[in-house]
Amino acid sequence: MSRVHNYFAGPAALPLPALEQAQKELLDWAGTGMSVMETSHRSKEYSEVHGEAINLLKELLGLGEEYKVLFCTGGASMQFAMAPLNLLRPGDSADYILTGSWAKKAYQEAKLIGQARVAASTESEKFARLPRPDEMNFDPRAKYVHLTSNNTIYGSQWREFPDTKGIPIVADMSSDLLWRPFDIKSFGLIYAGAQKNLGPAGVTIVILRQDLLEQSREDLPTMLRYRTFWDNDSLANTPPVFCIYMVRNVLRWIKDTGGLVEMERRNLEKGALLYRAIDESGFYRCPVEPGSRSVMNACFRLPTEELDQKFVSEAKKAGFIGLKGYRTMGGIRVSMYNAVGPDSIRALVAFMQDFREENQ
Ligand SMILES: *Cc1c(COP(=O)(O)O)cnc(C)c1O
Repeated sequence: MSRVHNYFAGPAALPLPALEQAQKELLDWAGTGMSVMETSHRSKEYSEVHGEAINLLKELLGLGEEYKVLFCTGGASMQFAMAPLNLLRPGDSADYILTGSWAKKAYQEAKLIGQARVAASTESEKFARLPRPDEMNFDPRAKYVHLTSNNTIYGSQWREFPDTKGIPIVADMSSDLLWRPFDIKSFGLIYAGAQKNLGPAGVTIVILRQDLLEQSREDLPTMLRYRTFWDNDSLANTPPVFCIYMVRNVLRWIKDTGGLVEMERRNLEKGALLYRAIDESGFYRCPVEPGSRSVMNACFRLPTEELDQKFVSEAKKAGFIGLKGYRTMGGIRVSMYNAVGPDSIRALVAFMQDFREENQ
């Protein structure tokens, strides 16, 4: 068996033990003589997986009773709409912090539904950094402040979240939920498509706080109401059972590896290795300001576009896959979510050094 070094941005690398467990259990799962995909979502065996996935998320994030974990579908993109649909009533407004393409998409979607206002934007600087505290001004009447915790395309990431003066934060954490422990107190709603840091595509993790649920609109179609997911443990209709099972396997791996404290240690180590290799090279160049750089997605460029392309294709031949930057961005992007270990980044850094020596 030869597994590649996988730096795709999403769907992305999964931890080997999570895949191996699925492989081992595929034909006969939990002694049922069936796979999890072939089992009723109302069965006792499936209920255990469903409950375990929820409980592991609560445990890893230290969620209190006021939060519930919901499993939705439609990706993070559906949450761009579902959040304002549920949280904005006629006349209400929400604040959006624009730090990249996904943040802009969330903002544009909110404007289709209600009033949305830009509280800060770094677009004029090509999103090469996050806004500084004195550049953000929040409307005290805003129902929530929306931010994107990690900008998957531009390679920036919030380390310290803004002080929103008590306005609940709604966060798109699609590409970094579970990268480290964090204090959830100021967050009213968090959502994340699973296919980056949590599992396969097809399920979206939503973490909702009770006071926001209480204020949500009830006059919405059933499957667009957070209340439907909240009241039915995300089993009002058929959930994506195999995706949730895989998320469960990934969460078990995180816990067995040392939880979020260990994830953070590994991620900081990976980030330090890679950014040092870039900054000290005099060849590779990262456009993102050092204080805003992401340890999940690192973007950089070579001296010319031809060299960018040559780098991607030679890397591929050497077993380093998925390094091409986002289609509208060009350059190189290294996505190094939890499942990508420090050894993989060490190997990539060695490749980068060889490539520079041969092409400088
Ligand atoms: C990938 C991504 C999305 C889009 O997710 P879908 O599940 O494809 O809708 C949204 N936000 C961020 C930050 C992402 O990285």
